[in-house]
Amino acid sequence: MCAMNAPLSPDFVNGEVSFWYRSIGVPEPGDPLGGDREADVAIVGAGYTGLWTAYYLKKADPSLRVVVLEKEFAGFGASGRNGGWLTAALAGSPGRYARTHGRDAARRFQHAMFESVDEVIRVAGEEGVDADIVKGGLLTVARGPAQAARLREELASQREWGWGEDDVRPLSRDELDGRLRVTGALGATWTPHCARVQPAKLARGLAAAVRRLGVEVHERTPVVRIAPGRAITPYGTVRASHVLRCTEGFTATLPGHHRDWLPMNSSMIVTEPLPEDVWTALGWHGRELLGDMAHYYMYAQRTADDRIAFGGRGRPYLYGSRVDDRGHTHAWTVGALWELLTSFFPAVADARVAHAWSGVLGVPRDWCSAVHLDPGTGLGWAGGYTGHGVTAANLAGRTLRDLVLRRDTETSRLPWTGRRVRAWEPEPLRWLGVHSMYRLYRLADARESRGMRRTSALARIADMITGH
Ligand SMILES: Cc1cc2nc3c(=O)[nH]c(=O)nc-3n(C[C@H](O)[C@H](O)[C@H](O)COP(=O)(O)OP(=O)(O)OC[C@H]3O[C@@H](n4cnc5c(N)ncnc54)[C@H](O)[C@@H]3O)c2cc1C
Repeated sequence: MCAMNAPLSPDFVNGEVSFWYRSIGVPEPGDPLGGDREADVAIVGAGYTGLWTAYYLKKADPSLRVVVLEKEFAGFGASGRNGGWLTAALAGSPGRYARTHGRDAARRFQHAMFESVDEVIRVAGEEGVDADIVKGGLLTVARGPAQAARLREELASQREWGWGEDDVRPLSRDELDGRLRVTGALGATWTPHCARVQPAKLARGLAAAVRRLGVEVHERTPVVRIAPGRAITPYGTVRASHVLRCTEGFTATLPGHHRDWLPMNSSMIVTEPLPEDVWTALGWHGRELLGDMAHYYMYAQRTADDRIAFGGRGRPYLYGSRVDDRGHTHAWTVGALWELLTSFFPAVADARVAHAWSGVLGVPRDWCSAVHLDPGTGLGWAGGYTGHGVTAANLAGRTLRDLVLRRDTETSRLPWTGRRVRAWEPEPLRWLGVHSMYRLYRLADARESRGMRRTSALARIADMITGH
């Protein structure tokens, strides 16, 4: 399948972590660990999960010694690269959480996610983290009859799993146009439970907040092995009663965890700042987040400096769970994202792409996220948010806090606590499965775009192959 070449601005940048860092400056990593240390809690990874966990632990008990170990700099991973949807969407199907914990528990989980969106905004305000946050909600558009049918099914499912009339509602084509004009959209839904953020500003602001609370954050410090009571790095070992793994998409690079979560790539482009006449044509004054119902779905935001940041799957998976570190993105992906962006918004066609980047997120075998703490060994972890981690990491931080402090709370009893899923298949089955799935999704989208009224059978086969 070929994609067009995207027009690139003269100062186009590929990779270099993300555009979000280009706009605030890629941070100079701080000091590495300077020898062995004793602590109460050692946290591996300084993304949102690790940082929120450190934050809530220190807030709950300021006397705790919390050490965070990060191989590059705080916010280097998906937390500094994502689409900036502070979304209430659960990772995976609510029915899977209900299967083990009951339907009410799955609904409580959904409500905890609604509240978590506001919790992130509250703490950002309290800690003076200016992350360009605007709570304009999320528009999900259906382009074509098959997508519209899926959107109706999705709305019915949301109603079943705790989304009331005030939590999500359908929009007519006219109502959608009043907010944002998307070419080919037949209808949409809107939920207030989503806010736009500048991801890197949130990650860096959070890192500064935890440091102010007295958490030691050591950057340029790769953890090479995790064992009960120990996080081992080339510069020393942190001994702690609890060691928490917060490495999401990078987890496969740790010994013993190669097949736990699939490192899934997601890629983004951002335009140059767009002129006023483009915004007059598009609307988008409410700064809503935007997504669609394609199988190979997209996500977008209007940035604080009036660009469009637009993302999608790109090349989803590298053989052997390899992780491409600094976000360099293949020209094919840049072209495919540009083609899709301009099909949504033809008025953008005269602009150019200023930056492209990619990152990895973690996908468990059943596509549902999990938080775990073994009280016997003190080892814990959280993640596998399958692309919905910006808000979920906050809730995971509070869940890990309660588990570490042995508090029996509503949060510690949410149905992601203690979930265990089987590992992904060994290669080459893993590569074949994921690539077949995305090939089938692309074919299904192409067929559906020719006017199919229902979801293509190819997409259902793809779901079956990977348990999506
Ligand atoms: C392009 C893209 C777009 C996305 N868009 C959205 C979105 O709009 N909304 C949403 O909800 N979710 C989105 N996601 C997912 C979301 O960003 C992640 O789920 C979330 O940021 C995960 O946070 P984390 O802290 O668990 O992991 P990460 O942010 O990946 O942090 C893990 C950290 O661990 C460090 N690390 C790894 N290995 C080691 C080691 N051995 N030793 C020490 N440190 C280590 C890494 O350097 C990294 O800093 C997106 C992801 C990507 C890649």
